[in-house]
Amino acid sequence: IQKERVGIIGSGNWGSAVAKIIGENVQKHPETFEYPVRQWVFEEDYKGQPLTKVINESHENPKYLPGIRLPNNVQAEPDLIKTCEDCTMLVFVLPHQFVRGVCDDLQGKVNPSVKAISLIKGLEIKPDQVTLFSQEIGRRLHLTHPVAALSGANIADEVAKERFCESTIGCTSAQAGELFHRLFATPYFRINVIGDPVGVELCGALKNVVAVAAGISDGLGYGDNTKAALIRIGLMEMRKFAKSFFGGVEDVTFFESCGVADLITTCAGGRNRRVAEAFAKTGKPIDVLEKEMLNGQKLQGTLTAMEVHQFLTHHQMTKAFPLFDAVYRVIYEKAPLDTIVRNL
Ligand code: NAD
Ligand code: 13P
Repeated sequence: IQKERVGIIGSGNWGSAVAKIIGENVQKHPETFEYPVRQWVFEEDYKGQPLTKVINESHENPKYLPGIRLPNNVQAEPDLIKTCEDCTMLVFVLPHQFVRGVCDDLQGKVNPSVKAISLIKGLEIKPDQVTLFSQEIGRRLHLTHPVAALSGANIADEVAKERFCESTIGCTSAQAGELFHRLFATPYFRINVIGDPVGVELCGALKNVVAVAAGISDGLGYGDNTKAALIRIGLMEMRKFAKSFFGGVEDVTFFESCGVADLITTCAGGRNRRVAEAFAKTGKPIDVLEKEMLNGQKLQGTLTAMEVHQFLTHHQMTKAFPLFDAVYRVIYEKAPLDTIVRNL
C-alpha cells in the first residue's frame, strides 16, 4: 500500500500550529503517512537570516508562532513547487488574499489525483460571482478529487498550546474524511467530519465579517449584550448568504464548531476583533493597524467585508444583509461607528 506524502502550503500563525499537529500525527501513523512533511514558507528575512533556515535549525517559527516547538519531521521549504513534488496530500493554509498567486504558480505542477484540504477562511469573490477556495483550488489545479474544508473555533496560539477545542471537516467522501481525520485529530483537537464542505467553508469566511462588527462594538464600549446580539444577527446573515447563493448548505452545520463556536471565539479573542476595536478607538486606517499590531499576520475580515459588499451590490441585495453592509460602510465609507447597531 502506498503511503501518503503530505505537503503544507502556508506557514503563518495557523499554518505553523497545524504543522505541529500534522508532523506529530504523521509520526503516530507510520502505516499511513511518510515521515517527512514539507511546508512551504513564504521566504522572508528574520533577524538577518532566511526564515526557512531559522525554522529548520531551531524547529520553531519565531515570527508567526513563537515559543512552540515544531516536530523534527516538518521541513520548511522556500520553493513552492518543490514542496508539492510527489505529495499525495496537500493542506492549503494561507491568508485568502494570496491563494490566487499561489495557484498561478502551481498550475500544471501538482499531481491531479492529490487529496487536498483548504483551511483558508475567505471567499473568492468577483463582483458578479462568489466561489469557495476549495472549488477554486480544485478547478485551477485540475484536481480529480473534490477539495475538503477544515474550519472551527481554533485560535492558533491556543491550539498550539494544546488547549482542548473542536474543529469541523467538511468532506463528501467518507474515505477521504477518515484520512483527513487521521491527519488532524488529536485528543486536544477534536474533529467532527460532516458531509457539508460548502457550509463549513462559508462559516469560516463569513464569521470574520461579524468579528469586525464585534470589535467595533468593543471599541465603543457597548458590552456583552450588544456583542451577543451582533453574533446572533451575524449568524442569521451567514445562514441567509449561504442559502441565497449556495445550494445544499445544512442548518445543522451552523451548530458545529465551524459555526456558532467559531463565531464566539473569534468575537472574543480573534485578530479581526482586536484590530477593529483599535480602529474604533483610534480612527487609524486598517492597513496601518494591521502592520502595527499583527507583526506580518494578515486580517481576513475587513477584506471579506469589501468583497461581500461588492457581490451584494451587484445583486442589489445589500439591504437584506444590514450587518454585513454596516461593517463595510464603517470601515470603508467613514460611516459613524454606531452604524454597526443603528440600522439592524
Ligand atoms: P497569518 O496571517 O499568520 O500569516 C500571514 C502569512 O502570509 C505568513 O506565512 C506570510 O509569510 C504569508 N505571506 C505574506 N506575503 C505573502 C505572499 N505575497 N504570498 C504568500 N504568502 C504570503 O496566516 P494564518 O494565521 O496561518 O492564516 C491562514 C488562514 O488560516 C487564514 O485564512 C485564516 O483566517 C485562517 N485561520 C487562522 C487562524 C488563526 O488563529 N491564526 C485560525 C483558524 C484559521
Ligand atoms: P482571526 O483571524 O480573527 O484571529 O480568527 C482566527 C480564527 O479563525 C479562529 O477560529
